[in-house]
Amino acid sequence: AGEPAAKPGLLGRLMGRAAPKTVVRRVLDDDMLEQLEELLITADMGVDTALRVTANMAEGRFGKKLSVAEIKQLMADEIARIMEPVARPLPLYPKTPQVVLVVGVNGSGKTTTIGKLASQFRAAGKKVVIAAGDTFRAAAVEQLQVWGERAGVPVLTAAQGSDPASLVFDAMGQAQADGADLLLIDTAGRLQNRGDLMEELAKIVRVIRKKDETAPHNTLLVLDATTGQNAINQVKVFQEISDVSGLVMTKLDGTAKGGVLVALADKFGLPIHAIGVGEQIDDLSPFDPQEFADALVG
Ligand code: GDP
Repeated sequence: AGEPAAKPGLLGRLMGRAAPKTVVRRVLDDDMLEQLEELLITADMGVDTALRVTANMAEGRFGKKLSVAEIKQLMADEIARIMEPVARPLPLYPKTPQVVLVVGVNGSGKTTTIGKLASQFRAAGKKVVIAAGDTFRAAAVEQLQVWGERAGVPVLTAAQGSDPASLVFDAMGQAQADGADLLLIDTAGRLQNRGDLMEELAKIVRVIRKKDETAPHNTLLVLDATTGQNAINQVKVFQEISDVSGLVMTKLDGTAKGGVLVALADKFGLPIHAIGVGEQIDDLSPFDPQEFADALVG
């Protein structure tokens, strides 16, 4: 009995699996660098970021013979270096209630992430309230109620199809009256009509500011790792229609290794607050750049 074979990472695929104790060495030349670059591009890292990683790898080492393990380590370290500045937990400001607006396309994992966050903050002794701001999707509201029960956190809802901004206004009032530490607000993720969604989010932000001009304190964009390069577009769109302050990437427990996060870190520099690693309530982890990079490179 041995351990189950790990998913091959990027370099695993390129180099094959060398017999134990055999030290395979490769020259870090143009040809090698080009292969590495291609690998990074196929891993959703984008051309610019892939070039940056390989250029950094080559610096001071071009033409040298390195073992596969050394090349792996080098690549992982360069990726981690890009990710380190953006690895930051969700900032908590002294002002309460802290208002966290959660945005993202439907299916990205907003509801699940809100449930997980509520549970974590509650476990840390915070008083949390959830507002089910996607009033058009009955299923989303029901899901949030289930998560609220699991986390032991109240979920404020409104009649289906009613104005999300008015629910959020009430939720702000209630969170303030109850002395809540944190208000998590779910929002709609219908990108089909971008203009409508932009208006809806803008209206939500306006009513939030009526109650607290410093809020929302965070606008969290939830991205699904399995959508690959699509995530870049989603960041662009949501930056246009809202004031994205940070990211959560979900579904990193599956086959998707989230290479696009490196491109996002490189391109946008938005903080990555957490990653989703499963469907259970505890499956939200802090973002660890080195662990992420090691898993990506494999
Ligand atoms: P929403 O439409 O953005 O609110 O997305 P949901 O929270 O409903 O999530 C959509 C689907 O993705 C659900 O089946 C979730 O269980 C699943 N999901 C969310 N986060 C994760 C994660 O980190 N890992 C896995 N494996 N599944 C997730």
